[in-house]
Amino acid sequence: MIGLSDPSRQFQSLQDELLRDFEAFIGGGAYIMGERVASLETRFAEKIGTLEAIGVANGTDALIVTLDALGIGEGDEVITTPFTFFATAEAISRRGATPVFVDVDPVTYNIDPARIEDAITPKTRAIMPVHLFGLPADMDSIGSLARKNGLLVIEDACQAFGAQLRGRPVGSFGHAACFSFFPTKNLGTMGDGGMISTSDPELAATIRRLRHHGSPKKYYHDTIGYNSRLDELHAMILLAAMNHIDEWNERRRALADRYRAALGELSDLDLPTEPEGARGVYHLYCIGSDDRASLLSALRQAGVQTGVYYPCPLHLQQAYRGLGYRPGDLPVAERLSERLFAVPLHPFLSDSEQDHIVSVFLKHRRSI
Ligand SMILES: *Cc1c(COP(=O)(O)O)cnc(C)c1O
Repeated sequence: MIGLSDPSRQFQSLQDELLRDFEAFIGGGAYIMGERVASLETRFAEKIGTLEAIGVANGTDALIVTLDALGIGEGDEVITTPFTFFATAEAISRRGATPVFVDVDPVTYNIDPARIEDAITPKTRAIMPVHLFGLPADMDSIGSLARKNGLLVIEDACQAFGAQLRGRPVGSFGHAACFSFFPTKNLGTMGDGGMISTSDPELAATIRRLRHHGSPKKYYHDTIGYNSRLDELHAMILLAAMNHIDEWNERRRALADRYRAALGELSDLDLPTEPEGARGVYHLYCIGSDDRASLLSALRQAGVQTGVYYPCPLHLQQAYRGLGYRPGDLPVAERLSERLFAVPLHPFLSDSEQDHIVSVFLKHRRSI
């Protein structure tokens, strides 16, 4: 089976380096909030182009802690996309705030800025765009809407480490941005981890306190916080991965180009595209087709793993039935949920594996 992603190949490529580091780690004695987390935070902030980066336990916590640090909670509304992983909206709800879903652009699959203004109410505090599948959201339009309406911008960059807009990394556009190190993410670890980037020193200090029980000083607590720290062990793995992430993201882009070259002629397929100035990192390579079910079964039979991202938009999730959305309310997201599916794309996918995947599409095309 050719996997959608293959983190084990990625970590095996780091094996010698990691085993050496692990020996030092065992004897080092610092397992929580040590020098590895500090140096990862420094490198991360440099890479994203923010003043600060703060490690947390996972991407979901990154979102929750950021919302908390910005004072967003009960009675507030946060505008976001219905076409994303559940955690984006879950974090808003976990804070007691209300997610307000705005439909997405049919080409980029990211939140459609032209529809945001209609969703703004006196309760709106923030816009939370997602750089879906590694493609930057339209941060220029979102930024000017936010400035005009006095709103905060929190980027959900969990799928997009290394993506750029006009040469500027995502994660540096909003007041803060949240990243996940879940194993299958572009920059992943062998477990859970997350990071928050911001150039606001005061916000960074609040987040640092919150992630560690609201504590500025050992056994003194300013506020009710969280136990949401990034482990030294994961920082160690991520420091090794950071040495290769640019090369891995380049390989992802090269594979996306190869898919486009091979499948671009098939007019019944929607392939990912990059708007002018955007450089995606292809966390997932999602193709749209009216014929999804039969393509999925042909791929499965040929030993190719696929996935549907996402089969149910968030406004129609059972958990959000209380918000009162109905089918048809956000038609673009709903249509995408019926058409899109992911095919394997990861830095260690070989050209010949990809050629095999492509051949399934070509054969399927000839057979209809
Ligand atoms: C993965 C992901 C998250 C959550 O990250 P975890 O580390 O799994 O908690 C949030 N938002 C998006 C868009 C994601 O893809």
